[in-house]
Amino acid sequence: MHFLDAPLHVNKIQQATLDTLLAVCEASAPVARRAARAMARAAGREQLGPWDLRAPAPEFSSAGAALPFDTALQLIAAAYAGVDEEMGDFVNLMAERRWIEGTVTSSKRPGAYCTRFPKSGNSRVYMTYGGSSSDVITLAHELGHAFHAWAMRDLPDSQRSYGMSLAETASTFGETAVRDAMLQRAPDPAARFAIMWEEIAALPTFLLNIPARFAFENAFYQRRSERPLRPSELNTLMAEAWTRWYGDAMAEPDPLFWASKLHFYISGLSFYNFPYLFGYLFSTGVYFKREALGGDFYARYVALLRDTGRMTAEQLAREHLQVSLEEPAFWAQTIERLSARVAEFEALVSELTDG
Ligand SMILES: [Zn+2]
Repeated sequence: MHFLDAPLHVNKIQQATLDTLLAVCEASAPVARRAARAMARAAGREQLGPWDLRAPAPEFSSAGAALPFDTALQLIAAAYAGVDEEMGDFVNLMAERRWIEGTVTSSKRPGAYCTRFPKSGNSRVYMTYGGSSSDVITLAHELGHAFHAWAMRDLPDSQRSYGMSLAETASTFGETAVRDAMLQRAPDPAARFAIMWEEIAALPTFLLNIPARFAFENAFYQRRSERPLRPSELNTLMAEAWTRWYGDAMAEPDPLFWASKLHFYISGLSFYNFPYLFGYLFSTGVYFKREALGGDFYARYVALLRDTGRMTAEQLAREHLQVSLEEPAFWAQTIERLSARVAEFEALVSELTDG
C-alpha cells in the first residue's frame, strides 16, 4: 500500500482529485503570497514572519460599538434569507426556540461550537458572543453547521455522518453570506478592513501553510522508509517546505513546525492536512456557484448537503454542481474569484496606509 491510500480513503477523495488540487494550488501560490504581503503591509512591514500567523488584525480605528446579540441574529437571518426565505426562517427558529446560547460570563472561555442531537435532529449553538465583527461571523459559521444538520434531520443516522473534507461546507457558506452582507453595510474602509481580515488571512493559511505541511509529510514518509530521521533533518525538510510554498512572502521559515504542530502527532491519522485545503476550496467554490445558478441554487444546495453523508466528494460535485473535481476548472474558477477579493483587500490596505 502507498502511504497516501489510507488518508485518501478516510476522506473519500480520489488520488486524481488530490493531484489536481495540489497542482492548482501550486499555480495559485502567487495569489496567496499577495494576500500575505498585503497583510504584512497593513502591519507596516514588507513580509510576514512565522510569529505573525497567530497575531490579531491591525486596527485602523477604535473598534466600533459592539453589535447586540439580537441585532446580530437579525443580520444573519436577513443574509441567510437572501439565499432563500427558508434559511432565514431557520435562523429565526433557532433564536425563538432559544437554541443559541451566547452569553459572556467569567466561567466561559472564548469560542463557539455547534452540536446536534441524533434522535430529534435538532442542534444547539454555544458561544461566547462579545459583539465584534468576528463574533458575528463566528455565529453565522455555527448556524451554518446547524443548518447542515437540519437539512439532514429526516435521514437515517447511517447517512448523516460526513467526513472532514465536507464538514465545513455549510459553515463556510453561512460565514461568507453574512460577511458579504456586513461588507455592504460597513460605514468606512477601517470597518471593511476588520470584516475582510479573516477572509484574506485564510488564503495564506489554506493555500500556503497547509500545502507546506503536506509537502513536509510527503518528504518525511519517503525518507522514513529508508531509516529514522534526526531532528536536524526534520528541520531541514520543514524549512524547505516553507520556503517552497511561502516564497518571498515570508521573512523566514519555521523549521521547528514539526515539533509545535499537533497535527503531525496524531498517531491514528496521517496527512491531517489536505482535507483542510480541500474543504476550504470546495466550500468556497460552492458559495461562488450561488450567483451562477441563481434561482436554481437553493434546491441544489440543500440536496448537496443532504448527500454529504452518502456520497464521495466527487459524486456530490458531479451530481449537484455538474463539475468534475478531478479536472482543474472548478478549482481554478474558485481561485480566480478569491484573487478578485485579494485585489479588493490590497486596495483597501493602500487606502488605509497611504494617508
Ligand atoms: Zn466549523
